[in-house]
Order: sequence, then C-alpha cells, then structure tokens
Amino acid sequence: MTIHLTDPHGAEASDPRTDDLAANLRLVRRRLVAACEAAGRSPEEVTLVAVTKTYPAEDVLRLASLGVTQVGENRDQEAAGKAARVAAAGTAVTWHFVGRLQRNKCRSVATYADVVHSLDSVRLVRALAAACRAREKSLDVLAQVSLDGDPARSGATPDAGFDADGSLPAVLSAVAGEPGLRLRGLMTVAPPSWEPVRAFERFGEIAERVRRDHPEAAWLSAGMSGDLEAAVGCGSTHVRVGSALLGKRAPLR
Ligand SMILES: *Cc1c(COP(=O)(O)O)cnc(C)c1O
Repeated sequence: MTIHLTDPHGAEASDPRTDDLAANLRLVRRRLVAACEAAGRSPEEVTLVAVTKTYPAEDVLRLASLGVTQVGENRDQEAAGKAARVAAAGTAVTWHFVGRLQRNKCRSVATYADVVHSLDSVRLVRALAAACRAREKSLDVLAQVSLDGDPARSGATPDAGFDADGSLPAVLSAVAGEPGLRLRGLMTVAPPSWEPVRAFERFGEIAERVRRDHPEAAWLSAGMSGDLEAAVGCGSTHVRVGSALLGKRAPLR
C-alpha cells in the first residue's frame, strides 16, 4: 500500500480525499471549540477520536498526516488488518476499540488496541485480562454503560441488579482486580429515542457516583457526529466521531 501524501521534494501533493478530510476536520474542530466555549471548558479537555470503521487504512494515514492521532474502530476483523497496514506504513496512532467486543476476539484486539471502550460484562473483563497476560501488555479500558438497559444493545446496567455479570459495579470491581487493565473511565452511546442532553446528563451523574469509589475513572467517552455538542456540554472528555469526519458510511452488510 502506498499513498503519496508528499512528492519526492517534500511538497504536499494534491490529494482530493485528503483535502476533504482536512475540511471535515476543520468543521469538527470548530464545533468542538464552540461546544467547549458554550460549556466554559477548555478544548484541551476533549480528545477527538476519529472513528474510521468502513473506511480504508489510507484514510487513517491521511488523518494522521493532518494531525489526528486517536483512531477508533468497532469490529475486530476490520480493525486488525487496518492497524497492521497503518503500522507497516510506519505511522503510529493510538487505536481505540469502541464496538461490541466478543470474548473470542479479545486476543486479537489485545494485539493492536491501546484503549478498549466497551467492557460491559465480568466475563469480557476476564477474557480481555487473559489476553493481556498472554501478550504481556496492559490496556487502558472503559466500562460501557447502558442508559436504558436495552439488552439488544451493549453496555452494563448502572445498578447492581439481577444480572451480576453485566452490572456496572461488578464490571468495575472485576477491572480493579486485573493488573493488566487500567480503568480510565466510562463510555456510553445515547439511546436513539432519548434526548441527547438527557442521556449525557444521566451519564454524567453515573460517572460522578462511580468516581467516589474509582477516582481514576476520569474519562467520559460520549458524543458522536450528531450529538457531540450535547456530550461536551455534559463533561465528555472523548468524542467518537465517524461520519462527520469521513463521510456517510455505506450501510453495513
Ligand atoms: C460508529 C460509531 C461512532 C461514530 O459514529 P458517527 O455517528 O459516525 O460519528 C461512535 N461510537 C461508536 C461506538 C460507533 O460504533
């Protein structure tokens, strides 16, 4: 794979896709700055994670050439190959795994991921920890919270209810018992039928409660292309932005 971002003399070669990405990036950064201003926050408090799912490794390289260092993916099969190609091109980015994670994919994810946002069961915590031990590495992790408790979607339920394996308190204490996993914070996706501000306010309350027992859980991964302003207004530290940066994705499958 070669992408010619610079000509042999070191000048920027013209690449329409890079120009598009640069324009999108400017817009997203402007939105983030405005949202931070409105919330009385510093833009430095919010990290932009570019979610590159369905887009090729070349786009990751283009984004990296534009200064984007945090990249998110949601499917192991796609992410593993992409991460290998980006590494082979000599480009280092931080890989965030943000999608639903199956236990049998933990070994693969542990090879390339730096941050996993989607821990939502004790069994998954144990599987990822085992994968880290096998790879002799450690990972930054976030527990994913389900705000509406819909079992069809990912996320641990905020309260220690009847589902001990999938409750947030159980997931957090399981992470605390694993030296290879560093708890960094919480992640959520606003339920589609909820008003985003209501969702992210609720998320902020849950996070505040969690930090009483786990003060290291300082990251709030919340906000996507359509609702990043609401998330930043409620304290998000990591926005995961796909389509606003890379374009509308083709429908999956
Ligand atoms: C795809 C995805 C995103 C990005 O969504 P956009 O609406 O394209 O910005 C963020 N988080 C997760 C978990 C995703 O799967």
